[in-house]
Amino acid sequence: MLILTCPACGVTAEETEFHAGGEAHLKRHGPGSSDDEFEQYLFMRANPKGVHFERWRHNNGCGKWFHVARDTVTLEVFGSYAAQTYEPTAEILSAIKERRPDWSQAD
Ligand SMILES: [Zn+2]
Repeated sequence: MLILTCPACGVTAEETEFHAGGEAHLKRHGPGSSDDEFEQYLFMRANPKGVHFERWRHNNGCGKWFHVARDTVTLEVFGSYAAQTYEPTAEILSAIKERRPDWSQAD
């Protein structure tokens, strides 16, 4: 079971208190985008075996959305951070690098 910490209210709880919202840091495309860009935005998602960045909502708490960096194989959580970011924070990236020296962020 995942144990997550909501960065908005500071509560640490089991995943059942939260709701998963899919991949984090998606580049959004709207009107005027090409069909390929729009397809990427709507349908294509990363499904890595290892480090993954996800959106979560504190459903049974403050209701805020936030991001979580975790390992999809071991369920190890590297940290959580505010949803109002376009990319993982330097703190999160260094926590990942510390525990997964071979990992690199693919864009
Ligand atoms: Zn919360």
